[in-house]
Amino acid sequence: MFGVIVCPSCNRARGVDLSTAAATCPSCGKRINVKKAKVYFKTDSESELAEAVRKMSERLSADVESAPPVRKKRRKLSFHEELGVRAKKIKGSEDRLRFVAENLSVELGEFSSEDLAMVIKGFDEADAEDLIEKMLSSGIIFEPGPGKYRSI
Ligand SMILES: [Zn+2]
Repeated sequence: MFGVIVCPSCNRARGVDLSTAAATCPSCGKRINVKKAKVYFKTDSESELAEAVRKMSERLSADVESAPPVRKKRRKLSFHEELGVRAKKIKGSEDRLRFVAENLSVELGEFSSEDLAMVIKGFDEADAEDLIEKMLSSGIIFEPGPGKYRSI
């Protein structure tokens, strides 16, 4: 008696002589315990066995194809978002503001309160205008033009 079994390791169908105790998977080399393996089809005919293996293989590959697609990689963060993520790890409030101001200045030259607002979106503290005031008064930034800021 022959049977169709599926390799538990590489998920490929193959035909075996069910009277043998073990079979080696031709694809991955795994030893399969035939006595314990789930038999998907039994036949005495070798040609029927070949047909059954072929059908099982088709079914298995169809399952793989219809499996849900791998989740897409997370969208790349914008410069502002990424800066926000990095700044969030800085503990001291003034150190953090200095870090943000310096990075915004390096990247943009001059930055506005909107730039700052985008960076601090993930923070749950003060709004951008307040922080600009704080940065101006503590000498972290200056205002080279109306509404434009740069780190000192
Ligand atoms: Zn295998």
